[in-house]
Amino acid sequence: MSDRPADLEPAIRGSSVPSVGLSRGSAARSAPLIAISAHDVCKSYGQVTVLNGVSLSACKGEVISIIGASGSGKSTFLRCLNLLEVPDRGEITVGVERVKIGAGGARPGGIDKKCVERLRRRLAMVFQSFNLWHHRTVLGNVIEAPIHVHGRPRDEAIEEARALLAKVGLSHRIDAYPGELSGGEQQRAAIARALAVNPDVILMDEPTSALDPELVGEVLGVIRDLAAEGRTMIIVTHEMAFARDVSTRTVFLHRGAVEEEGEPASLFTAPRSARLGQFLASFRSGRFT
Ligand code: ADP
Ligand code: MG
Repeated sequence: MSDRPADLEPAIRGSSVPSVGLSRGSAARSAPLIAISAHDVCKSYGQVTVLNGVSLSACKGEVISIIGASGSGKSTFLRCLNLLEVPDRGEITVGVERVKIGAGGARPGGIDKKCVERLRRRLAMVFQSFNLWHHRTVLGNVIEAPIHVHGRPRDEAIEEARALLAKVGLSHRIDAYPGELSGGEQQRAAIARALAVNPDVILMDEPTSALDPELVGEVLGVIRDLAAEGRTMIIVTHEMAFARDVSTRTVFLHRGAVEEEGEPASLFTAPRSARLGQFLASFRSGRFT
């Protein structure tokens, strides 16, 4: 964490992971609020089955990490959650928005576009390769969706963007273009952009995989802060120590199916599945690429 910008430090000290999915003050009585759920999601490309009935749900405030070997379907699953990829079958629910495909629901090609739009507005995605707009400044990237998708007044969007960029330690880079930033700065800008639409759930697909090793810490630090704030997140990652520390639950995907899931404390130290055991051993021995 030594490479973390100084202005991120105060928020990190004393941070802790929120209690799992329980609303404050009424934990014992109220049912956890489900922020996002996927039920029986299936996806094939031609003859290749990539997702074979994946179900997962996250309560409000939960941080779910998804781990698994390359090609196990992690990215496809995240893309199905925001319907960037349309499942062949399954049900996705985000807040009150639900899309059901196959078995009594819509055909994959026939989903109501308005419904998809409403569902997507509740989500934000952070990509491995940042996906910033290169012809816009950092500020321009952050205010784009609030103004043009969510109809926010420009002044208000700018004010909020400044606060979000301060939060991710980028106040000094507000007028820079993505090409002038380090990978860590670009990813922190992408996280500010995700936060700017005030999403119910943030999806992250290997947010640190494209970074030089010395820049990983600053991005993980920002994500840790979001977890400590109680943001609901689903994070695909190969950073095992980070996943263990920051998640409320971890899901191990193997060949398009949930092979094991549970609290990180037990899943990482005493895996029940032999495949998960092998996967974790491959990390420990440095064999994983
Ligand atoms: P992961 O993120 O776990 O590495 P992916 O979800 O990217 O895995 O991919 C899972 C499998 O699906 C891989 O075998 C990949 O080649 C295949 N796949 C992903 N997207 C497509 C696509 N658009 N067309 C064909 N095959 C795909
Ligand atoms: Mg992937």
